[in-house]
Amino acid sequence: MSTQHVFHPDQVEEYVASMRLGVDFLADALRRVDGPATGVLPEVAAKAVTDVDLDRPLGDQRAALEEMGRLWLDDTIWFHEPSYAAHLNCPVVIPALLAELFVSAVNPSLDTYDQSVGGTFVERHLIDWAAGRIGFGPGADGIFTSGGTQSNLQALLLARDHALSLGASAGDLRILTSRDGHFSVQKAARMLGLGDAAVVTVATDGDRRMELGALSRALAETTDAGMTPMAVVATAGTTDFGAIDPLPEIAALCEGYGTWLHVDAAYGGGLLVSPSRRSWLAGIERADSVTVDFHKTWFQPVSASALVVRDARHLGHVTWHADYLNPHDPHGTGHPNQVDKSLQTTRRFDALKLWMTLRVMGPDTIGSYVDRVVDLAAEVGDRLEADPGIELAARPQLSTVVLRPARLTEQQADVLLPVLRARLYESGRAMVAATRVDGRRWLKLTLLNPLATVDDVLAIVAELRGAEVAR
Ligand SMILES: *Cc1c(COP(=O)(O)O)cnc(C)c1O
Repeated sequence: MSTQHVFHPDQVEEYVASMRLGVDFLADALRRVDGPATGVLPEVAAKAVTDVDLDRPLGDQRAALEEMGRLWLDDTIWFHEPSYAAHLNCPVVIPALLAELFVSAVNPSLDTYDQSVGGTFVERHLIDWAAGRIGFGPGADGIFTSGGTQSNLQALLLARDHALSLGASAGDLRILTSRDGHFSVQKAARMLGLGDAAVVTVATDGDRRMELGALSRALAETTDAGMTPMAVVATAGTTDFGAIDPLPEIAALCEGYGTWLHVDAAYGGGLLVSPSRRSWLAGIERADSVTVDFHKTWFQPVSASALVVRDARHLGHVTWHADYLNPHDPHGTGHPNQVDKSLQTTRRFDALKLWMTLRVMGPDTIGSYVDRVVDLAAEVGDRLEADPGIELAARPQLSTVVLRPARLTEQQADVLLPVLRARLYESGRAMVAATRVDGRRWLKLTLLNPLATVDDVLAIVAELRGAEVAR
């Protein structure tokens, strides 16, 4: 049996050579990039992959890298390209990539102290820091998660169990969120056994923020009907419009009803470090729980997210006693563990990426990137507003621009917009997303690249026009 592939002191040369090979291979690929995509079609991509016989190894790293290049990397999507403007993917920062090297190779698991030692405290210190940025007091706590979906699920689990502990009955629990709230709220309601009907959708105002009158009525109606509004999920940065729900007013309503306030800041969480726009999140400190996705507006590689709660005691709802993980501690070593606060057991040390980012770059630099993309969206919005050929669904609020060619009937939009989007992808020159707003089709630019300029983004719009003319 050969053990030459095991990461081990005897294999240091092999390890270093392997990493160098990989870094050079990636650097070469990066230098060759000329566009966010190559436009490869799913049927072509699938065939190349499924043709591989996994029972016949290549036995050689270079050959395997070259094969991987053909199967995936050569046609991958590059999020650092200024003409990539589709989803909430960010370009990543290099200090986080440096951390990733250690995360995978050392491979600690953050569930218990004896699998991570100082890593436990790195994560805890970051959570305390993030809680401080939110404005929570010393009683706060939280946990890194795999993403906003998991953070929202855990938040709603805590809210549910909190409501049940106060005597509510499970069949009567309701979650209130705006119609632009993220679909992971609906999914969480299902997974928590509350059912689809448990989510009450609240109307939005002209800026697509949760409408306070509608929330107030929904709270009153829910309680009048003998049900328990177990949580309000306010969104700080909706996925399509970047709208930030009016947090102070929502918090006041929640306080009046004793309702758990969860703020889904998966997208808008980067404003916590914005040197000029932190005030946009005013009121977030009155939440019971907050979701922040570091892999969106903090320029971290996937996965990196956190759930932060105002009162650490609520995390006890996910604690399960397992003797082999947290045995009674006869010697009083008091070893801390994180598994008690998490839905996961084995868990990556994703916190190290944010740690290295903060230690190298500092929060202001990350925040200045956020400011940059918010400015960019605003400038692009102004330019397009003045363009008679383009219709905007709304004024950009965070870093999205929802647009389409002007003067389309809905029937024309239904036919044209998917074609335009596909044309752009297939050209490899730009990528945009599609969405529906009140049943109408739109295209969406999500701007998360601090290197992109107004001209870069207007060039994407010009590509859309070109594709329309070529129709
Ligand atoms: C992206 C997003 C989520 C889901 O986060 P993942 O990290 O993709 O699981 C939840 N809420 C909002 C508002 C989002 O933008």
